[in-house]
Amino acid sequence: MIKAITGTKDILPSDVSRWQYLEKLLRETFQLFNYKEIRTPIFEETGLFARSIGEETDIVSKEMYTFKDRSETSITLRPENTAGVVRSFIEQSLGAQQSLNKLYYIGSMFRQERPQAGRLRQFHQFGAEALGSTSPLLDAEMIQIAFHILKNLGLKNLVVKINSLGIPEVRENYKNVLRDFLMDKKDKLSEESRKRFETNILRIFDSKIEVDQTIMKDAPLLIDYLDTQSKSDFDVVENYLTRVSIPFEVDPTLVRGLDYYTKTTFEIVSGSVGSQSALCGGGRYDLLVEELGGKATPGVGFAAGMERILLACENEKSLNLPADLIDVYLIRVDSNSEEQLDVNLKLDLEVANLASMFRRENLICEYDYLNRSVKAQMREANKYNAKFVVFVGGDEFKNGELNVKNLANGDQQLIKIEDFEKLKSLLKN
Ligand code: AMP
Repeated sequence: MIKAITGTKDILPSDVSRWQYLEKLLRETFQLFNYKEIRTPIFEETGLFARSIGEETDIVSKEMYTFKDRSETSITLRPENTAGVVRSFIEQSLGAQQSLNKLYYIGSMFRQERPQAGRLRQFHQFGAEALGSTSPLLDAEMIQIAFHILKNLGLKNLVVKINSLGIPEVRENYKNVLRDFLMDKKDKLSEESRKRFETNILRIFDSKIEVDQTIMKDAPLLIDYLDTQSKSDFDVVENYLTRVSIPFEVDPTLVRGLDYYTKTTFEIVSGSVGSQSALCGGGRYDLLVEELGGKATPGVGFAAGMERILLACENEKSLNLPADLIDVYLIRVDSNSEEQLDVNLKLDLEVANLASMFRRENLICEYDYLNRSVKAQMREANKYNAKFVVFVGGDEFKNGELNVKNLANGDQQLIKIEDFEKLKSLLKN
């Protein structure tokens, strides 16, 4: 038996309506904020991710699906989509066509992490990128879009966390301050954090290990070292969020796992999904376009995990989707005994023809393909939540009539086959 790869998941028909509902909400929301969809390939040259996300990050150092293709090119399944969007922005000269590009995407991402609830190896993200402006209004707009979507899904247990990482010089300077602070405590840190001390010192703040947390409690904070521009931009973000009534907390330890961030970073966390609680994260990346070889262009964006969001919806029972239903189920009435084969074949064609007439009228319609008994067809009609059943066959049919039954209230009426208008308006009710 061949099984699905560890950390991947089938989204079955019984579950897909929640996905479609979310996707529809996403498209409507992005349209509302005037973002345009961009679809980039799901694999790219490995160097793109190494250069943008950062060699020392968890994603690049241990989570990417990287392989050589038949022409020995190193290829990676995208672990996130900012890099791909920025690559496309540069390659397709989108900045030359429009001074501000507001883009969104929805798609699969791949990371070889240890699977658990809310953490998969193939998962789905939606996200947005705005390229071409340094305005902190856009930073706040990103938070607003994400918040709007989560609120519209009925989620309640949300915390918006924001921080600023400042400009790179400030951050480099601060890293030295942090290094000085940790120098004589280094040996007490966990092994992972000792490693991070050398490679990615800011990420020690992410450690969940108690000894690390105790030490980091007294650490100097980057937010106290910000340059004036970063500080005033951060004020704008705070004022905007307050003005549009989005509750938030400033979390000076929010450093995020990717190297490309500058100034504003944020996360929205849910209290309803256990340890994998970050539903979405993002921030500003004013230097990334230039680092990837494009003309210097500021950018800001976010990405959100769709599995995790749907898990939060499930745990909060926040989505009450109407059951799928069909307008009409056609029931073939005559018996299915051998000698009736001819009659049945004729009736089958009548049923198929009526079905096609209904479908032309946009009525969702189904019938039996398995030569089942009337009783079994009726069971099917109920299983599909049919609003009406139409019986085709029997004496009524010989008299040129169809028996139409409203399954909600049990009402039945006979309608002449040739009076299709009447039939149609009854079924459309
Ligand atoms: P990141 O790109 O790491 O900032 O992640 C953004 C969002 O994607 C997170 O907040 C999660 O909701 C989601 N996410 C990241 N990694 C995974 C994963 N392995 N499985 C499911 N969702 C993920």
